[in-house]
Amino acid sequence: MVRHRPGRRIGIFGGTFDPPHIGHLVAAVDAQQALALDVVLLVVAGEPWQKAGTREISAAEDRLAMVRAAVADTPGLEVSAIEMERPGPSYTADTLVALLAAEPDAELFLILGNDAAAGFESWERHEEVASLAALVVVDRPGSPTPVDGVRRWTRVETLELEISSTEIRERVASGRSIRYLVPPGAAAVLRERDLYR
Ligand code: NAP
Repeated sequence: MVRHRPGRRIGIFGGTFDPPHIGHLVAAVDAQQALALDVVLLVVAGEPWQKAGTREISAAEDRLAMVRAAVADTPGLEVSAIEMERPGPSYTADTLVALLAAEPDAELFLILGNDAAAGFESWERHEEVASLAALVVVDRPGSPTPVDGVRRWTRVETLELEISSTEIRERVASGRSIRYLVPPGAAAVLRERDLYR
């Protein structure tokens, strides 16, 4: 008798990651543990269309190199360049379709921070996104953040780490330390490539 093996439980944590920092990693690990996910993919946005025009975004290759170095060999975390390999704006709906085409038995969990959850209804084909993946909000302690325009989501409580990529960029630009905020490997890539100066 052939026994059907259940598909992998895959978390998708997308981001611009310009640069990645410990807030991203703690949220990804908390979601992975809380939901017993086989893996969390940190999906580097190739062309973050909603941020285009608001500021200069670092080259996708630089952001990918930093995320790879940040994750290094953390068990349960992997880096995906799937959105960089696809031309045009990075739509999460396309990413989920591609992941399911590659692994039809997989169960997908889309992991969102507070701001991403609050702006979810503005996403391209957001209803399709919600039909392809379970939505998970990695939430700071306090009242739950709902996912905009959606009835069902899961909440995973994470730490209140008031760290942002904006803060890291400003620190680098003004010569302040980013030690302990950005994992050492990612900080080394950032320095080698002379980013945010
Ligand atoms: P980002 O700034 O690099 O952040 C990545 C994720 O980490 C976000 O969910 C963010 O939550 C979370 N995060 C950041 N700092 C944190 C901290 N200190 N503690 C816990 N969590 C923290 O990426 P982004 O530019 O917001 O993009 C997020 C994803 O949404 C990307 O995959 C992007 O492609 C996707 N997106 C898709 C569409 C579409 O149309 N399909 C539209 C917009 C965005 P916050 O949201 O709270 O910052």
